[in-house]
Amino acid sequence: MDKQTEFVLRTIEERDVRFVRLWFTDVLGFLKSVAIAPAELEGAFSEGIGFDGSAIEGFARIQESDMVAHPDPSTFQLLPWRDQVQGTGRMFCDIRLPDGSPSYADPRFVLKRALDKAADQGFTFYTHPEVEFFLFEDGPLAPGQPPVPIDSSGYFDHTPHGASSDFRRRAITMLEQMGISVEFSHHEHAPGQQEIDLRYADALTMADNIMTFRVVIKEVAMSEGMRASFMPKPFSGQAGSGMHTHVSLFEGDANAFYDASDEYHLSATARQFIAGVLHHGAEISAVTNQWVNSYKRLAGGGEAPSYVCWGRNNRSALVRVPMYKPSKSSSARVEIRSIDSAANPYLAYAVVLSAGLDGIAKGMELPEESADDVWSLTERERRALGIAPLPRNLDEAVRVMEGSELVAETLGEHVFDYFLRNKRAEFDSYRAQVTPWELSTMLPVM
Ligand code: GLN
Ligand code: MG
Ligand code: MG
Ligand code: MG
Repeated sequence: MDKQTEFVLRTIEERDVRFVRLWFTDVLGFLKSVAIAPAELEGAFSEGIGFDGSAIEGFARIQESDMVAHPDPSTFQLLPWRDQVQGTGRMFCDIRLPDGSPSYADPRFVLKRALDKAADQGFTFYTHPEVEFFLFEDGPLAPGQPPVPIDSSGYFDHTPHGASSDFRRRAITMLEQMGISVEFSHHEHAPGQQEIDLRYADALTMADNIMTFRVVIKEVAMSEGMRASFMPKPFSGQAGSGMHTHVSLFEGDANAFYDASDEYHLSATARQFIAGVLHHGAEISAVTNQWVNSYKRLAGGGEAPSYVCWGRNNRSALVRVPMYKPSKSSSARVEIRSIDSAANPYLAYAVVLSAGLDGIAKGMELPEESADDVWSLTERERRALGIAPLPRNLDEAVRVMEGSELVAETLGEHVFDYFLRNKRAEFDSYRAQVTPWELSTMLPVM
């Protein structure tokens, strides 16, 4: 038995833990959980816990639906919102097939495979997300009824006795109790909108942290009589919720994105990485922005990107290089601004990494920086500058993804096919809807 497994078993005994939840994520990014009794844990570590994969979104073909969850002891934490005596612990799992091979459908495995590829080239991938979300008043809504934000504050607003600052304080305390460090938090632009930025970590730890983050935020909101939502764009007239992610590649202790002699302190590796993300930007959209609603956020404005370009102090760009020059080489990084708060973090980080690595492998050249606000340019000006739009809706995104070798290879055949099928169905269902916008603009004149 390794040290981590021993530690988990000892903690459970010493703390008199009564339930252990085994967590994993489906292909669409929803958390799955099965609780086991502590007595089952040794068996779970040695043999795993079997379950019916055919009932999990994207998991199994019906004729091979037996899957086995293997808890990862390094992820053990106690849930701070459960009783502190006789409490509940949790671990993330790796999903395997009965023959012991990793499940092709497990998003955690998809990311691990991409990270292994980076490791073969000597790289570790670090990410630091800024997660935005809304807090709404609780209570049932009639279908289609807009939710009510808990406040009417705006960007960086300080509200004395504000419900949202109390909320952030409680949520951050809980995240820290679960080993997740928070760097910044503040009110965002839109009423009720919040942002919490997590301290950088390797991408696998971070994807796990994001899944935990979503649970913690929902739990705290519920206990305060509110409702938290990671929906990308709840209101037409307000900013949406992005999950901008700052990324860097390290070679050992050295940040491969840093070059002191460069004007922007960006290494050739960083430039090629950005070039790769731009080159594949449209193809990976269906993964980084996976919902019909995601494209409402990218429709223009609200500081979310709509075009494939990069810039420094440019919040309309898909990739931004922060202007504050890194004082330490370790903090040199680039910000990917497309990813939204309802993405599957494992899959989103896997495709961003693969796109960047492809840029490095092929020595891709970084196009000219966009200094302008690209929304204010005309279509013609953008074309002259070679600035292409991101897909304008899920249908376009799926069509570009279909032809992407990079995405097919990164997700693996099974996830790639499932994802395309699921997303086509989502768009078809949406396409058949008559919206309030049509009624209010057409009915009066027709
Ligand atoms: N909410 C914006 C988005 O969707 C980002 C706003 C900001 O952090 N500057 O991307
Ligand atoms: Mg921010
Ligand atoms: Mg923000
Ligand atoms: Mg940002």
